[in-house]
Amino acid sequence: GEGLPRPASTRVIVVANQKGGVGKTTTTVNLAAALAMHGLRVLVVDLDPQGNASTALGIDHHADVPSIYDVLVEGKPLADVVQPVRDVEGLFCVPATIDLAGAEIELVSLVARESRLQRAITAYEQPLDYILIDCPPSLGLLTVNALVAGQEVLIPIQCEYYALEGLGQLLRNVELVRAHLNPTLHVSTILLTMYDARTRLAAQVAEEVRTHFAEQVLNTAIPRSVRISEAPSYGQTVLTYDPGSTGALSYLEAGRELALRAVGAATDGFAVPAVG
Ligand code: ADP
Ligand code: MG
Repeated sequence: GEGLPRPASTRVIVVANQKGGVGKTTTTVNLAAALAMHGLRVLVVDLDPQGNASTALGIDHHADVPSIYDVLVEGKPLADVVQPVRDVEGLFCVPATIDLAGAEIELVSLVARESRLQRAITAYEQPLDYILIDCPPSLGLLTVNALVAGQEVLIPIQCEYYALEGLGQLLRNVELVRAHLNPTLHVSTILLTMYDARTRLAAQVAEEVRTHFAEQVLNTAIPRSVRISEAPSYGQTVLTYDPGSTGALSYLEAGRELALRAVGAATDGFAVPAVG
C-alpha cells in the first residue's frame, strides 16, 4: 500500500475493554496488518491467555512456544519471543500461551509487578513504528501491565445495547494508572466495531459514543462482516484473507486515520465522561 507517516518514536497502543467479544482481538490484528501493509513496522503483543491474536496471525502458540509469559514472569527479553507473521512484511507477534492464565496470580508476588511489560518493551532494540497490545477481557494485572507500558489506549466499542456499560470502570483505571504509574497514558482512540448500518440501534449507539468521545472516535466504523469473522480460522487477517472485502477496506482506512492523527493532539483537556 501507499506509505504512511512514521511516528517519531514507537507508538504503543493498548487495545482494551474489559467486556469480552467487542472486537479487541479482531481490531488488534487487523489494524496491525493494515499499518504494516501501509509500510510500517508493527508488533502485536498477545496479552490474552486465550491466544486468539496469535491464532489469527497464524502464529503457533502451543504450551512449549516461548511467549509473553516468559517475558512477564521469567524476565526473558522480548527479542527471544518475537515471531514474524508470514504473508505480511513488517508485521511481528509475541504469542500468548495458556500458561499466561496463571501469570495474573504469579505476578502478584514479583518485583515491579505492574511494569514488567513496560521494562521489556523499553529494552527491546529493534526499530518499530507501532506496538499494539491485545488485552484480556478483565482489568487485572495483565491489563495493568499493558496500561503501564503504553502511551495510548484504543477502546473498541461494539455498537449494541449496553455498549457503554462498564466503560466508566475502564476509564477510571486508565486515570488511576495515569495518576500513579504512567503520566503519558491517555485514551487516544475509540473504534466502533461490528457496525450494522441497517439497524437504528447501531446508529443510536454510534451517536451516543460520538457525543461522549467527540475527539477520540475514528470516522471509520468497522462493519459487521462475515469475512472478518472467517479470517482467523485460516490463521489470517482479513487483509490477506479477502483484501477487497468491505471489512479489509475498513481496517485499512481505520489504520490510515490512526496513523495520520498526531499523537496526543486530540486528547488535550480530555475529561472522563460520566458513562457506565
Ligand atoms: P474480543 O477480543 O473483544 O473478545 P473478538 O475480536 O474476539 O473480541 O471478537 C468477538 C467475535 O466477534 C469473534 O468471533 C470475531 O470473529 C467476531 N467479530 C469481530 N469483529 C467482527 C466484525 N466486524 N464482523 C463480524 N464479526 C466480527
Ligand atoms: Mg480477545
